[in-house]
Amino acid sequence: MKIAFDNSYAALPAQMFTPQLPTPVAAPAVFARNEALAAVLGIDLHAPDAAQVFAGNHIPAGASPIATVYAGHQFGHWNPQLGDGRAILLGEVVGSDGIRRDIQLKGAGPTPYSRSGDGRAWLGPVMREYLVSEAMFALGVPTTRALAAVTTGEDVYRETRLPGAVITRVAQSHIRVGTFQFFAARKDLDALRALTDHVIARHYPQADGLAALLDAVIARYAHLIARWMGLGFVHGVMNTDNVSIAGETIDYGPCAFVDDFEHGAVFSAIDQQGRYAYGNQPQIGAWNMAQFATALIPLMGDRDQAVKDFTAAVHGFAPIYAHAWLQVFAAKLGISDPTPEDAALVTDLLNLMAKDGADFTATFTALATDQARDQFLDRDAFDIWAARWKPRQAGNAAAIMAQANPQIIPRNHQVEAAIQAGVAGDFAPFQALLAAVTQPYAPLTEATAPYARPPMQSERVTRTFCGT
Ligand code: AMP
Ligand code: MG
Repeated sequence: MKIAFDNSYAALPAQMFTPQLPTPVAAPAVFARNEALAAVLGIDLHAPDAAQVFAGNHIPAGASPIATVYAGHQFGHWNPQLGDGRAILLGEVVGSDGIRRDIQLKGAGPTPYSRSGDGRAWLGPVMREYLVSEAMFALGVPTTRALAAVTTGEDVYRETRLPGAVITRVAQSHIRVGTFQFFAARKDLDALRALTDHVIARHYPQADGLAALLDAVIARYAHLIARWMGLGFVHGVMNTDNVSIAGETIDYGPCAFVDDFEHGAVFSAIDQQGRYAYGNQPQIGAWNMAQFATALIPLMGDRDQAVKDFTAAVHGFAPIYAHAWLQVFAAKLGISDPTPEDAALVTDLLNLMAKDGADFTATFTALATDQARDQFLDRDAFDIWAARWKPRQAGNAAAIMAQANPQIIPRNHQVEAAIQAGVAGDFAPFQALLAAVTQPYAPLTEATAPYARPPMQSERVTRTFCGT
């Protein structure tokens, strides 16, 4: 396989990563290929050695495989050293669209940062990441992508024996808030400066200094979380090591989309306090940006002034988010010129949905029909709300709403069913679900309609387990 690598991260100071080859696996087989993304990257997914390459058995010419180091706050607790424990960055490719992207194998074997882990992934989380990241892309949300996925022919051991897999993840970069935190905590100013220069050149070329970089990262992250909220998406592990500096959704572990809406929706089995519940995501977003700001302080000459300025910048997160959130939800209601009063309209609808356990996705798509009230137990309350809403709709409300309200999101019970079939060797449900979730705004067809249906009580999946 020929890949036109052009590696810039591997040319940064040596303390920022460790050269690391993937550990070969027994019998790789490709089960998913992303042809559209491959075309942008100029990669032939049908090369004879494709399975070997996407398993890490064969390193294509020009790759410079490394594991990157980072730190992070995990559930609020500082961890001074994390790093790519099971991911290996092969290198970077500048696509036909001019965008530079990382090509990374996740589940490719141990690295110096594996701690007690085995460096592997099992098939379930690989399938989940593939489905959800590609759905997010189709939904128009900034995200890492999935280029290919293979089964390894080897088992991994979690609570039980499970089939191993490797996903090839593509991202604008894998630089995280935690990458900055690692070097700031060690007072390694050379690396911190090199990292900052790299990030500005690569992701924020308009930023003319650290303050501008901070503002730009805050703005992207606030918009990203507003998009999540508008889809009922719960990331599940918003640790600072899972916050992409490029503003992409990254690290699809125990993530899920809410079915019956509740503000406090939590899916991750390890998030017992609900730190990363649906409704907490904006506050955690601001908290994560405070950690980023803190990591930049050592580079600033006048520390006290920098603390003051950066604190003000972090306080800017909330109004930027609030504005973005209102834009997102106004579009979902077919409102083109939202006013502050429309924020109350949105909140009141969400509260009605929460009170009645209305399905998030189905309620918003039903608003385009005359059946929305059927989503509610308290139909009178909905009618009263709708009487306030109707006059606020734009002339082209139907068109605005059709682009803002997906028919299909990767519902948790469907993802779980696809995983169970995949584990049994049948990838047809995965392929059918992938096809449906990557056309989220298209009118439903006979083939896709089942994926729009909310789970029945007996089908509901309310817990997800971490991607490890
Ligand atoms: P995550 O929760 O996926 O963001 O992972 C947190 C940290 O644990 C990262 O540094 C991962 O690289 C590492 N990690 C997760 N799973 C494994 C594994 N199976 N083997 C080695 N490291 C892992
Ligand atoms: Mg992570």
